[in-house]
Amino acid sequence: MAVTLVPPAPYPPAPAATAGADPLAVLGVPGQVNLDHAASAPCARAAADAVAELLPWYASVHRGAGALSRRCTLAYERARQTVGDFLGARPDDHVVFTRNTTDALNLLSRALPAGTTVVTFAAEHHANLLPWPRGSVRLPVPASPAGAVRALDAALTELRRGTAATPVLVAVTGASNVTGERWPVAELARVARRHDARTVVDAAQLAPHAPVDAAALDVDYLAVSGHKLYAPFGAGVLLGRADWLDAAPPYLAGGGATSHVGSATHEVRWTTGPARHEGGTPNLLGAVALAAVCQSLAGADRDALHAHEQRLLTRLRAGLAALPGAVELRAFGPDAPRVGIVSFVLAGRDSAEVAAELAREHRIGLRDGLFCAHPLARRLLAEAAARSGRADLPPTALRASVGLGSTPVDVDLLLAGLGALAPR
Ligand code: PLP
Repeated sequence: MAVTLVPPAPYPPAPAATAGADPLAVLGVPGQVNLDHAASAPCARAAADAVAELLPWYASVHRGAGALSRRCTLAYERARQTVGDFLGARPDDHVVFTRNTTDALNLLSRALPAGTTVVTFAAEHHANLLPWPRGSVRLPVPASPAGAVRALDAALTELRRGTAATPVLVAVTGASNVTGERWPVAELARVARRHDARTVVDAAQLAPHAPVDAAALDVDYLAVSGHKLYAPFGAGVLLGRADWLDAAPPYLAGGGATSHVGSATHEVRWTTGPARHEGGTPNLLGAVALAAVCQSLAGADRDALHAHEQRLLTRLRAGLAALPGAVELRAFGPDAPRVGIVSFVLAGRDSAEVAAELAREHRIGLRDGLFCAHPLARRLLAEAAARSGRADLPPTALRASVGLGSTPVDVDLLLAGLGALAPR
């Protein structure tokens, strides 16, 4: 990443009320049980503090000569560096700030060289299914991580028989937003590399739960959402190889993306680098908030956070297994590695009604529906019916997801709430 930093202006001290507090504590409302981290995580104190600290200085980025503007430009470019370091950016990668993962994957889709074939699995979130061009290959949901690797290998072997020279991109999730199951990203990337294909990882659900490092995984692109990473200020990231991004038409044509605009219609030279795809005034506060969380997570004991989350997950899954009529959704075996997400159904109960009753009677927030992954969710609902032998499973599911700040009490309250549902 080529980043030119302007000299810093002095910062005001952090607001006294929060100085010294745990930066990864999350803001919340006492009495409300938030088990919907996978949709949008609560705000981490680090993000709130970083925004509060910068607000008095808020001014234009990349445009002004004044001290405020210089400070904001510095903060924005430092945020890029911090987020890039956190996600394992290589020196020649670009780190482009976007709105969210959907935006990041749409940007990559527009940057694909002509004729690129994209290979995905039917297990993806819509954000990693719908942006890809016609002619993309969608592989069936595999029954195991090893099955995913075999299926990709076979598909790329077949594809390369006909298209030896054309670009291929493998687009895969790091962790499923429906089941929490982790995908074998490094192995899939290795297979892709062997077939001279690139890989993009939708890390929207993985990055909030586990370290994700593009260089270590040897993946070409990563996409994340700030609002799922405890930084709800509207920023996301596309990180990855510079060549396709620099050769592509700008994602947003406008100010900031150009190096020269002449008087004649269409006389324009677009800049290269992240700015090419960040036309318009950037989301400074979103970028700074996301960087603050990344920095706090980088300094945290990730093993301890992982162990805590896994204990919650075990408690939740054991409780569900003991609940009459509850059936978990899963694509892989029951012991496949997962992040803190569990989807399930209650036989004979409408999922939307259950979610509404939990909210009304117990102040518990979780998600119901098909989770913007319709092909996967429908498939897993059908499998759950076959596995459980129940003909009365509902057509949509419930999803509970935990994260920073979740406690065993939250899990127990959910299990108690489910157990106490009004009989039907
Ligand atoms: N990918 C996955 C796995 C997701 O879970 C989500 C959102 O739930 C997205 C992509 C899209 O994220 P966003 O809505 O922040 O663009």
